[in-house]
Amino acid sequence: MINAQEIEQRAVDHYGHAHQLIKTTEELGELAQAVARLLTTKVYNRSMHETLVEQLLQEAADVEVMLDQIKLMFPDGVPRVHSWKTYKLARLDRRMDEEGKDHD
Ligand SMILES: [Mg+2]
Repeated sequence: MINAQEIEQRAVDHYGHAHQLIKTTEELGELAQAVARLLTTKVYNRSMHETLVEQLLQEAADVEVMLDQIKLMFPDGVPRVHSWKTYKLARLDRRMDEEGKDHD
């Protein structure tokens, strides 16, 4: 059974903080590219669409693994991540309330 946190901690220890932070920028770039490809590629069939979505999901997984490693590198900051996330979600919720009806 794969223990994700053990493997992520091993990666942080094995490659070091700086390397994994650089890797994070690479993975974020790959996710951005996958999003842009999905939005801009002229899709001719269902299979092509599914391939683009799969690439997006694969890059999202890569980014999640890197975000997990950032939390392992800066464990004291994890509660602040949660606080910021709570604040930003509440702000998003308020903004959508102010904008009115949800998109179909
Ligand atoms: Mg990637």
